[in-house]
Amino acid sequence: MIDQRRVQIIHGDEHPSGAVVYWMNRDQRLSDNWALLHAQNLAIGNAVPLALVFVLTPWHRAISSRQWTFMLDGLKQLANDADKFQLPFYMLTGDAGKVLPRFMKENGIGTLITDFSPLREHRRDIQQVSKTVVGVFHEVDAHNIVPVRSVSNKQEFAAYTIRPKIQRQLDEFLQEFPRLKKHPIAWDKRVPAINWDSLRNEKKTTRVIREIVWLAPGETAAQEVLANFLSVQLSHYNDRRNDPNTDAQSHLSPYLHFGQIAPQRAALKAQRFGDNIASQEAFLEELIIRRELSDNYCYYNDHYDTIDGFPEWARKTLNEHRTDPRESVYTQKQFENAETHDALWNAAQREMVCTGKMHGYMRMYWAKKILEWSATPEDALAVAIDLNDAYELDGRDANGYAGIAWSIGGVHDRAWGERDIFGKIRYMSMPGCRRKFDVAEYVRRMDRIATEDTR
Ligand SMILES: Cc1cc2nc3c(=O)[nH]c(=O)nc-3n(C[C@H](O)[C@H](O)[C@H](O)COP(=O)(O)OP(=O)(O)OC[C@H]3O[C@@H](n4cnc5c(N)ncnc54)[C@H](O)[C@@H]3O)c2cc1C
Repeated sequence: MIDQRRVQIIHGDEHPSGAVVYWMNRDQRLSDNWALLHAQNLAIGNAVPLALVFVLTPWHRAISSRQWTFMLDGLKQLANDADKFQLPFYMLTGDAGKVLPRFMKENGIGTLITDFSPLREHRRDIQQVSKTVVGVFHEVDAHNIVPVRSVSNKQEFAAYTIRPKIQRQLDEFLQEFPRLKKHPIAWDKRVPAINWDSLRNEKKTTRVIREIVWLAPGETAAQEVLANFLSVQLSHYNDRRNDPNTDAQSHLSPYLHFGQIAPQRAALKAQRFGDNIASQEAFLEELIIRRELSDNYCYYNDHYDTIDGFPEWARKTLNEHRTDPRESVYTQKQFENAETHDALWNAAQREMVCTGKMHGYMRMYWAKKILEWSATPEDALAVAIDLNDAYELDGRDANGYAGIAWSIGGVHDRAWGERDIFGKIRYMSMPGCRRKFDVAEYVRRMDRIATEDTR
């Protein structure tokens, strides 16, 4: 049974007539999806058909071609699999606020269910749709284990303040999912065929970024990546996850970003795979606490991607050091082309450009050095977000905005010893990295990857 605390009633709570539609956005999967389960419960309760709708909005068209193909290939698999559950899949194109109400009217839909995202694009779309759509409209937090609004009603200060709030409710929410059923009432309308090849090719973007082949998109691949991580890497996670020369991370972030796997499924499985308790706890800390802290930040802070989102002490200290001389100042192009004087930074940038996934430890160093070598903190933030959102397969995510704001703007962190440019923002250095891992080996590996890439 779905916990009603996941459900936000946008309007209409009476039982309407007509079919139910799940407008899928962030949670692009059939299994373990609370929004879809909620939609199916309502449809079965009213003995009506259920359909899935994905809207390719103008903001989807602005994402990089690398993310576009990963998303579309995942959706194509999903559309095929949905058929087995007697669930038709529609792909609409245009402003959600226009195309969805029209679709609902034409198809006699009485109930619209969507999933939750803390990011402004989907929230704006929901607002637009809510102005015109009639009938029931619910939003379901299908992404967070403890729904954002249940965890806290305000922006949390740091991991140590959100952790007890999540842990208090975790047992209630971290439960096994019911199974999606083959839908008992058939959809009797014509479903237009989707030309996936043409959608794949039609990407009109200023930034065509080569797609990734080392990670396959889709729900099945996501489950395989999770299974492999649990059986091979999890036991080393605690000791090795901060060493970019070892493969100790899960690589789940692209799947989590596109909702091709539920964080709750990963957490349930990791809980059962506990031959190394320290590693299990460290992984669950990242997967649950840190990830849900990012959603909390973006949900309660409208300025999550600008300097105005930083805490006051951080803005003050960055302002006090605004005019400090910079040893080097690079343009966005120089950063993008990995043309700084720092071989380690360039290696991290190459890892992101070539593989679509920079190692987690390097992401912190990478963003902090952009602050050090930019004319202003505003420039640094804009460059870091732009490159992260374009090249990382998991980019455009609450984790990215929170991670960059942590690195550059002290979000979820505390004040440290004062120094040039950074003020009291935590600093990271090359010697510090050398103490943690073999920097030369990482640089060599990324050089190799970049060379193979250009062949
Ligand atoms: C500057 C910077 C930029 C970042 N950009 C992104 C981004 O665009 N998208 C993104 O998903 N993550 C981002 N992160 C957070 C983190 O680095 C990645 O989630 C992680 O490296 C993804 O790899 P993984 O799934 O193999 O991680 P694992 O170590 O296997 O962790 C499992 C999951 O836990 C969560 N997690 C791990 N570390 C963090 C963290 N620090 N904050 C929040 N959640 C975390 C993620 O959901 C991750 O998939 C960024 C961090 C920084 C410092």
